[in-house]
Amino acid sequence: MTDSEYKLYIDDVIRRVEEARLKVSEHHIVKIIAVSKYSQVEDIEHLYRIGQRAFGENKVQDLREKAKTLEDFPIEWHFIGNLQKNKINNLLTIDPSLFQALDSLELAQELQKKLLAKDMTLDALLQINSAKEESKHGVMPEDALEIYKQIQKECPNIKLKGLMSIGAHTDDKEIVRKSFETTHKLYEQLEAATICSMGMSGDFELAIECGSNMVRLGSIMFNK
Ligand SMILES: *Cc1c(COP(=O)(O)O)cnc(C)c1O
Repeated sequence: MTDSEYKLYIDDVIRRVEEARLKVSEHHIVKIIAVSKYSQVEDIEHLYRIGQRAFGENKVQDLREKAKTLEDFPIEWHFIGNLQKNKINNLLTIDPSLFQALDSLELAQELQKKLLAKDMTLDALLQINSAKEESKHGVMPEDALEIYKQIQKECPNIKLKGLMSIGAHTDDKEIVRKSFETTHKLYEQLEAATICSMGMSGDFELAIECGSNMVRLGSIMFNK
């Protein structure tokens, strides 16, 4: 696709996000994170040229390589994948804008130690396993508020900004909706949280209707 064809294609994705957010309210603003994990640097540049600035990766190594290659571009990088403890230092070297997948108190404590040693802070979202799926990371909904508070208290170098969740893995829309509602209800109970990150290529409109204000779009943004 040429730049202008691609722009028309992306305009259509943006129009869908617009329609979904306007169903909630005129004041409900939704940010799109382009998930580039299946894409090459050239694809990221292509999307950058038509205006996208926030990108997400789910492997520390990939994030490192892409961020390095594209270091002259003012890209806002998000890390959206599971973080192993032995990769914390590598992630901190990149200093991403937002770590979206903080999924346990233990990881937070480990991260806090490393952040303190480097005299850094890191913005993060607590990941919720809203449909309680074994295949997924994240804290259980019933434990989320307690863990969120505990991280805020014990880990001052982690700046929690809200919640992230992946919709239930099923074709049943009502179950997916419930999983988003579960996360959004928790989000509403947090003081001063500003980000509720839910919704991917296959379910972002539903996520926005349930209150998401950040969608992580991979395949649809890169037309894959
Ligand atoms: C891959 C991924 C996405 C994007 O998935 P698509 O279905 O391609 O939009 C969003 N969030 C997370 C956590 C991911 O791993």
